[in-house]
Amino acid sequence: GGLVVAVDGPGGSGKSTVSRQIARQLRLRYLDTGAMYRAITQVALDRRIDIEDPVAVAEVAERTVLTIGTDPDQSTIHVDGVNLDEQIRTRAVTNAVSAIAAVPAVRARLVAQQREIIAESLAAGGIVVEGRDIGSVVAPEAPVKVFLTASTEVRALRRSRQLGEKGVDDVARTLAELDRRDALDSSRTVDPLSIPEGAIVLDSSTLSVSEVVDEVMRRSEH
Ligand code: C5P
Repeated sequence: GGLVVAVDGPGGSGKSTVSRQIARQLRLRYLDTGAMYRAITQVALDRRIDIEDPVAVAEVAERTVLTIGTDPDQSTIHVDGVNLDEQIRTRAVTNAVSAIAAVPAVRARLVAQQREIIAESLAAGGIVVEGRDIGSVVAPEAPVKVFLTASTEVRALRRSRQLGEKGVDDVARTLAELDRRDALDSSRTVDPLSIPEGAIVLDSSTLSVSEVVDEVMRRSEH
């Protein structure tokens, strides 16, 4: 038994809000896989390694032990006993993470850990997993797959707000950075922004959070 809900989509599409809400309503655990790539990025930046050097980046990932929480109401991600949850949301990490996530050894290690967390959660009812490659690579057997989209403008506004920005220039800069990150993320061999087979595609620029959640719930029943 145990349900797996895979939620994929680009940055700023509202994945986290929607995923957490689905987990609460279905009483499932919640896994933010983006936080894992961000935590490795934070460690790489702290150690001042060259993030364009895949060998050095792979070594960081191999030596780093991540512990990530699965409570939808409280996010924690620990490295060496330190909770990095706040630090990993900064612009510095956001702009460096695509380079780290492009290294195959990093992905292999994190995907393996994600699958372990999913397997462990099944006995407890299941899990909502959000990311870029969940329905396609991490959990292709997931019975419920969602691909969340939103217009670039809506995504940039959300990201800008999350970063505590207010000006029009900030939004424009965030939009340019989002575009750049999307391009980097989708230029990989396995395009993590492609829509997984069997996914429900929902556009959060025209739907509210509760409308998206209700739609997922409705379709999960069939
Ligand atoms: O979702 P979030 O913005 O936190 O993801 C940060 C980055 O981590 C993405 O831009 C992408 O490069 C990477 N990522 C990934 N595969 C995932 C989740 C995130 O490559 N499953």
